[in-house]
Amino acid sequence: MAGSAAADTRYRYYNRRFERALPGMDLLLDAFAVVDCGMAQAIAHRGQKPACGAGCYHCCTQPIPLTPLEILGLRIFMGPELVSGHAAAPAVRHEQQGMAPASCSGTGGASSCMSAATDHVLGLAADVRQALAARLAAFGGETARLGATCPFLHEGRCAVYPVRPMACRRYIVYGAPCARGEDPTCTRPHQVLQPGQDFLQAALRHTLPWYRGRYPLPDKPSADETQAFFHSVTTVLQAVPWARYI
Ligand code: SF4
Repeated sequence: MAGSAAADTRYRYYNRRFERALPGMDLLLDAFAVVDCGMAQAIAHRGQKPACGAGCYHCCTQPIPLTPLEILGLRIFMGPELVSGHAAAPAVRHEQQGMAPASCSGTGGASSCMSAATDHVLGLAADVRQALAARLAAFGGETARLGATCPFLHEGRCAVYPVRPMACRRYIVYGAPCARGEDPTCTRPHQVLQPGQDFLQAALRHTLPWYRGRYPLPDKPSADETQAFFHSVTTVLQAVPWARYI
């Protein structure tokens, strides 16, 4: 499943400079494609149009879990080496997911909707990067920042949309967009999509080669061991010491 979804051009973000910047970035983009593919299926299965869309970003004020490889991807994406002259503030957290195709391997339909806005984006424009740097300077790794708005939210849009964390990709709400300060998992959990874990686990497993040699891992971790490993290394975006990386 992971292999075919990772190669599915409808979901895969291609950026050679990003992928060559450091080992593991290709795995990360593959993993994002797997997650997006799973979300497309989950949304199609629910058969309702999500409330998420352009201009709604209150979910970006919640603590966002992410893994070390995702942190590295964000650091590279906002680095100057990827600047191409293209502005990269294309969308909010899941602006396009409401149009998701029904299948990861089918053809036609709205198949290009999830990748179209990302294919041409190569990096952050200098002014966006500067604005992000100023915001990231306030994030020194303190847990007190957990409730802060995500620093990558720029003028109401996700500045790092092509490489936004898996958690952002998996968060879909129905009925009405989130109100300011609302956590719909508490206020109306029946309107929050509960995607299955299989695509997420497949995506995370796909990134395991990057973790080998950097983290203690069994040779052939079982599904439970893999899950436990990623649980142990997952942190919260607002608790990352971004100030050190700018
Ligand atoms: S990374 Fe982007 S989508 Fe995710 S919380 Fe931050 S601004 Fe929102």
